[in-house]
Amino acid sequence: MALRVLPTTVDSSVRALPLKTPISRADAESLERLGITTIADLLLELPFDWESYGGPVRIADLKPGQSGTVIGTIGKISSRRPIRASHIKSITEATLTDDSDASLRLVWFNQSFVQKQLQAGTRVAVAGLVKERRYGPLQMSGPHYEVLDSDAEDGPKRVGGLMPKYHLVRGLTSKKIARWVEAALPYADQLEDVLPADVLHRHHLLPIAVAVRQGHQPETNADYREAKRRMVFEELFELQTAFAMMRARQATEPATPIPYRQQVIDAFKAGLGFDLTNAQRRATWDAFQDMQRAVPMNRLLNGDVGSGKTAVAAACVAMAHAASMQSVVMAPTEILARQHLGKFRAYLETTFPDLKVELLVSDLPAAEKRRVRMAAASGHCALVVGTHALIEEDVEFNQLGLAVVDEQHRFGTRQREQLRAKGSGRPHFLAMTATPIPRTLALAVYGEMSVSVIDELPPGRTPIVTQVVEPARRRDAYDLVRREIAQGRQAFVIYPLIDESEKSGGKAAAVEFERLQRDVFPDLKLGLVHGRLKEKDEVMRSFVAGEIQVLVATTVVEVGVDVPNASVMMVEGADHFGLAQLHQLRGRVGRGAAKSYCLLLADDPLGPVLERLRLVESITDGFKLAEEDMRLRGMGELMGPRQHGMSDLAMQGLREPELLSEVRQEAEGLLASDPDLTGHPLVAAAVTRRLGLTSIS
Ligand code: ADP
Ligand code: MG
Repeated sequence: MALRVLPTTVDSSVRALPLKTPISRADAESLERLGITTIADLLLELPFDWESYGGPVRIADLKPGQSGTVIGTIGKISSRRPIRASHIKSITEATLTDDSDASLRLVWFNQSFVQKQLQAGTRVAVAGLVKERRYGPLQMSGPHYEVLDSDAEDGPKRVGGLMPKYHLVRGLTSKKIARWVEAALPYADQLEDVLPADVLHRHHLLPIAVAVRQGHQPETNADYREAKRRMVFEELFELQTAFAMMRARQATEPATPIPYRQQVIDAFKAGLGFDLTNAQRRATWDAFQDMQRAVPMNRLLNGDVGSGKTAVAAACVAMAHAASMQSVVMAPTEILARQHLGKFRAYLETTFPDLKVELLVSDLPAAEKRRVRMAAASGHCALVVGTHALIEEDVEFNQLGLAVVDEQHRFGTRQREQLRAKGSGRPHFLAMTATPIPRTLALAVYGEMSVSVIDELPPGRTPIVTQVVEPARRRDAYDLVRREIAQGRQAFVIYPLIDESEKSGGKAAAVEFERLQRDVFPDLKLGLVHGRLKEKDEVMRSFVAGEIQVLVATTVVEVGVDVPNASVMMVEGADHFGLAQLHQLRGRVGRGAAKSYCLLLADDPLGPVLERLRLVESITDGFKLAEEDMRLRGMGELMGPRQHGMSDLAMQGLREPELLSEVRQEAEGLLASDPDLTGHPLVAAAVTRRLGLTSIS
């Protein structure tokens, strides 16, 4: 039987690439972790940045302290094992000369294979940072290199000029990837263009094959930018088309309209005990308008910590109740659920005597759970507030009209979906988040939702004094904590999760907790919470109850907890946090009338770190800080790891707000003319793929 060998195509595995040394199984596995399995995947993943070494110069013209590229001939080359320094296994040294009669010393550490590729007499291009030594010629450590034909006049293809930087995982290098990409580039012409031709034309975008070639091997920075713009456009286009399709699909699902009743909102406001802020009023109005429609509301309430999102949700609950519909509110922790219970009751039960609010969390006695389940199923209670238990314990409703999720990013798509599935039709849906998200980003990642922003805090809050404290002045910080506690207040001391594993962060907090208790505050009552701690809810409860004076914690408990008596937030290792996160932490204090303090301690508050922390000192508006965070660290950081299903390139692209609105227009235009995308099968396939990847609810 004849073996039929299938031709390699752009859809073949990367291991089919015609290379002198084909991609090994291990390397292929590493690539897979980057989401790259086929040749097409490899081609479509452009470098995220470039190192620039400039064009080749003569060795004699190299400048110490600067990067440079030179072409020359290897003189001596040798490898040795260092006597000391156990982490260095080999040192390879070579000399390079060119016709400028100067020489350059090249050094590689732990790369003994270099000696196999470069021999005396090899013509080579090298690029790297040039260093001066006390004596002898200039030196490059660990330079990039490319062997050149000894007789050819040609310059190097890869080395020098621009060197790509690819996203990597352990075991891969940008240089390896660049070599594979080079072998893959001939297949670029087989890539099909997802973007319709008229879109390409209108926005002066490169065809895909050109973009891929130019993006991986640009002549200039402008080339690269042009290629990148095209790739970002495509990604955002796919996402926005997916969002637009979801919006259209949702619009076909029936929901029970909740009519607007003026007397309900009047009574609600009269019973609150405070006036709603303008921002709260706007958000409430947005939600009422949505709920009156026969399609389900799908709205994100984006408001800073303490901006009063609960009152907005409560107004919606009241309106639903007046229409004989029930509501459910899900919070990520038991403490939060209990605090919600208190607030919703305070906002609603006196004003609307027949509006009963119940709590469902997992550690209630079985009889109590049964009672609450009954109350929900019979329609006797108007609102059930709870945790995941709401999903897990099979709570059923008689007539669910509104589902609210607090700190919605803490829940997975599935959990949110399960909550929404508890209605007979589709309940109206309100998500709340205290992470201020700049508008462009919200549109890009929550494109299927409408967004209300609460950008105003209730009046009468004493501003929080924020201070960056130098390590040498840690004592002063402790003194402040002590002074506040002497006045009957409470304090938080927060430690970062330096490692990704909760364990090590928990340990840092635990170790510090003991030290603080023993050496710093032996006479005070300290408590400890971190993610792995079983009794964390209990500890939180005693902090809320005032039995614990100083709470030592990691950020696992950061969200939404309301302890009005706490007046100091001391953040250790503040440089490990993003600005938005620091702002969130700061929001834990200043909830009462007392003056509050946020102290930021960095281990090494120098240069850029200090500059970043100073921003938190001077900016109190969470949205402004989020913008700064985005500018400094990129949007991805703001959203948490990979939660958004967007590449870093696309995130970078969002810094140009016009781009997103152009993309949205195109996506909507396409769907208007071809709602099912039957005429655009490639777009349809891309959208399906995106929907699988993204946390679109
Ligand atoms: P968050 O948006 O962080 O969930 P909350 O809803 O918990 O904020 O509100 C924070 C505090 O502010 C609560 O104690 C609440 O009662 C109070 N509050 C909310 N709105 C107003 C307002 N308009 N005026 C005065 N206090 C308010
Ligand atoms: Mg809240």
